[in-house]
Amino acid sequence: MNSIDDILDPYAELEQSVCRLMKELFSDTCGLCTACCCRADICEEALQSAFLSQLLQRQGLSEANMDDRYGWLDLHGCSLEYGRPTICYAYFCDQLLARLPDDEARLTAQVLGQLMDHIGHNALGSLALGEIRNPDDLEKVDHNQLFQRMEEAGAALVVIENYLQTGRLSLADRAILAEIKISED
Ligand code: SF4
Ligand code: SF4
Repeated sequence: MNSIDDILDPYAELEQSVCRLMKELFSDTCGLCTACCCRADICEEALQSAFLSQLLQRQGLSEANMDDRYGWLDLHGCSLEYGRPTICYAYFCDQLLARLPDDEARLTAQVLGQLMDHIGHNALGSLALGEIRNPDDLEKVDHNQLFQRMEEAGAALVVIENYLQTGRLSLADRAILAEIKISED
């Protein structure tokens, strides 16, 4: 595998799994929230990004499909199945974290929110994969690193899925989660 195209399908698959788990964890709270934290300028980042815009194209989406005021939001929430800016998963308001039962649940949720960011972190110098705007620059990215990060994110996802079913984390599980750095932002 040596092309950015090869990462599109596995990335989309992983993102959809992350999205499903985030919905399981938080849709009740976010669905009743009066302070929706989605913003059209964040939605636009998906169009400006060379990588994310390829994921949108796979869904038949372009700038013409995005609402000027509501971005990708519709009555059911975000309409993007994948290709969302990674901040859309990484942001947790205090209320959301406070509703989780303990520090372990908060840690696993935060790691879950960081998985998509982990894959593309510093993909081209200090630029994250999703921040690259010139499509030609996507071929300058270290594809082996992307696939390695994808494997790390996939392993962490399995740990999180198991944790959500069993409520337990082994030492080996914690080591896998520790590969995913949680942003201080
Ligand atoms: S993350 Fe917090 S502020 Fe944003 S929609 Fe959910 S509950 Fe509301
Ligand atoms: S989750 Fe979707 S609607 Fe919300 S800011 Fe992200 S891309 Fe936009």
